[in-house]
Amino acid sequence: MSFHSLGLAPDLLRAVADQGYTEPTPVQLEAIPLVLAGRDVLAGAQTGTGKTAAFVLPILQRLDANRPPMRGDGRRAIRVLILTPTRELALQVEESVRTYGAHRPVRSTAVYGGVGFDPQVRNLRSGPEIVVATPGRLLDHVGQRTIDLSRVEVLVLDEADRMLDMGFIRDIRRILALLPPARQNLLFSATFSDDVRRLADGFLTEPASVQVTPANTAAPLVRQVVHPVDRERKRELLSHLVTSGRIDQALVFTRTKHGANRLAEQLVRDGIAATAIHGNKSQPQRVRALNDFKAGRATILVATEVAARGLDIDSLPHVVNFELPMVPEDYLHRIGRTGRAGMDGDAVSLVCVDELKLLDDIERLLGHRILSEVIAGFEPDPRIRPQAIKLRSGMVQSGRGARPALPAARRPSQRPAPSPQERRPVHPGPSQPFRPSLGSRPAPGRSWERRSAPSQPRRPAEQIQSGMPRPRIVLPGERISGG
Ligand code: AMP
Repeated sequence: MSFHSLGLAPDLLRAVADQGYTEPTPVQLEAIPLVLAGRDVLAGAQTGTGKTAAFVLPILQRLDANRPPMRGDGRRAIRVLILTPTRELALQVEESVRTYGAHRPVRSTAVYGGVGFDPQVRNLRSGPEIVVATPGRLLDHVGQRTIDLSRVEVLVLDEADRMLDMGFIRDIRRILALLPPARQNLLFSATFSDDVRRLADGFLTEPASVQVTPANTAAPLVRQVVHPVDRERKRELLSHLVTSGRIDQALVFTRTKHGANRLAEQLVRDGIAATAIHGNKSQPQRVRALNDFKAGRATILVATEVAARGLDIDSLPHVVNFELPMVPEDYLHRIGRTGRAGMDGDAVSLVCVDELKLLDDIERLLGHRILSEVIAGFEPDPRIRPQAIKLRSGMVQSGRGARPALPAARRPSQRPAPSPQERRPVHPGPSQPFRPSLGSRPAPGRSWERRSAPSQPRRPAEQIQSGMPRPRIVLPGERISGG
């Protein structure tokens, strides 16, 4: 199926061709005609599926189709508001607006925190029709009366699940109240918690739903592997994987900002060009780190979960989980950074004995085991006992519950705690030995050996193995399933 069948204008098709895209991705195939038809859309799509073009292209076309006259002051009103959870994603989405709108006169700007207010005010005064914004800074502009949202015709919530995880629900509701009631609404989310569904129910009108990534499926072209290793030897193993040439360039995830900095420093001491990116860094520092990585000046970019959201890095060959995420769904977000748009990728997880429970939870979510391979010389010491995982000073994780409890939105994992239902024993059935695939060895050590088979997968295994996920259209009123 080509882009030409989607009903897009010639200049948009040209912009798409300029990017070298030959075929629409599943989410584009399904969402573009719906958005062009003026429908509200609820889309389940992860980063890497081509979701940005899926809403930007048809929005550009609709803007052009009925462009109102200039306002009395010779400027245009804001007609499209796109909300994103992070400034990186805001920048990336606005860049996409420029890319796909390259052959038509459309003005856009991005509005996000952590940078000066005045340049944004100047940009807003110049009359952009499309504004991409993070919620907090947008409300600052509302408070300062430097933005007028009274003429918005299309609202997009991009990565809605992340926005809720980051505690933006109140801001979003305040913003919704400022918009004209008659408008088109699009909500994109990788996952659908009850909170996301409640939000969607509250503002979407008879939405058409598009689900392109079957819930909780890893990108099909990502090879996943676990390297069992002792807690204190992870950095050494990572250095070994890089210096031995098994990993050439990788985005490496740590749980904490402090951990990200420390790891980058240690890798530099090992002679590896490493840099870190996280929420405590200033915007110029983040941009510099990202540019160093993109230009190949940095071999390793160490990032925390939140900082990595919205990073626009194409053709990323490796993602390394230096530490497993506390919430299994975050594993999918992380490894979604590789194997993008039809390319292969490797997702490597360095797992110590403390993390076996987290690994089990991830495998239960995937519905299958991840290949486990011990690297010679890094065999885990079977005498080492599991310890509670330190999330930040004064906060430890033992089992599934973090203590002391912080407000959900402020937890390092940026995810609410699992519901009581989710807390049920993970492996109620009789334990079975894990048979690794050919070429791998099971991890030694009593705790590793005791790993039991994952309980009932949430989806049949053949669905997981079935290659490129097929899009599914859900009728109005029907819900997207999965979580
Ligand atoms: P997104 O999910 O919007 O973050 O997009 C992921 C990546 O896929 C971006 O780097 C896009 O440039 C790329 N992309 C988007 N649409 C297509 C397409 N139809 N064919 C190939 N690559 C695409």
